[in-house]
Amino acid sequence: MTTTLITGANKGLGFETARRLLAAGHTVWIGSRDGERGRAAAERLGARFVPLDVTDDASVAAAVRTVEAAGGLDVLVNNAGVEGRRPDNGIVGAAEVTAEDMRTTFETNVFGLVRVTHAFLPLLRRSAAPVVVNVSSGLASVTLLADPAAPGYGYPGVAYPASKAAVNMVTVQYAKAFPEMRINAVEPGFTATDLNGRTGTQTVEDGAEVIVRMAQVGRDGPTGGYFDVHGRLPW
Ligand code: NAP
Repeated sequence: MTTTLITGANKGLGFETARRLLAAGHTVWIGSRDGERGRAAAERLGARFVPLDVTDDASVAAAVRTVEAAGGLDVLVNNAGVEGRRPDNGIVGAAEVTAEDMRTTFETNVFGLVRVTHAFLPLLRRSAAPVVVNVSSGLASVTLLADPAAPGYGYPGVAYPASKAAVNMVTVQYAKAFPEMRINAVEPGFTATDLNGRTGTQTVEDGAEVIVRMAQVGRDGPTGGYFDVHGRLPW
């Protein structure tokens, strides 16, 4: 039996990933910082609920104790993320972005991911087939954002792409340090969720595909890579 924890799984891509992995036979923990929304999501799917705010040490430590007491962890999907848009859904561009904007975005997308991964490492190391999926973004690719022919070139935001580029680097460094684990970064594609005010062009079913695939990667599968649904992406 494979046990999987998905952070930020009360809605969006995380929720859809939970639905699909449950269907594939995983025992799934829905991590959610909001108790009511998380519990309701878990009930809808027949998943387990664990309170988990990735920006809070005590919350993450309590989640480790809960998951450990129930038998451990095989797959960690670091999905919780924020884009840090303005209240009018506008993207904060280079002229406006402040250090505080950067800090807020990194707090969830980067420091949160490291906080959760670090805390769950002892459990993952006890698994026979440990897997980590870091939900990155196509906007993480320095190569693509510097290429005028690439679709993401015109994206004006600073904090979000920088945070996801950091996620990619963290992924590479973890993967080298823990060769017994499969640790990859994935780009779901531009998906209609609350993150982008539902402006995304894909459905969550499409977007979750690569997350679900990488969560089920075999022991002989890739590690330290950056993938979308079609294959490897340039860093
Ligand atoms: P979403 O529907 O807004 O979901 C984001 C999830 O993260 C929510 O469950 C949210 O919880 C949770 N979250 C935010 N801060 C958290 C925290 N401090 N602790 C725990 N959970 C927290 O957006 P989504 O599009 O599904 O995003 C999922 C991931 O995909 C993100 O990492 C995002 O960067 C990435 N991604 C999305 C797209 C896209 O086009 N949508 C493209 C590329 C990558 P609350 O409900 O409590 O806010």
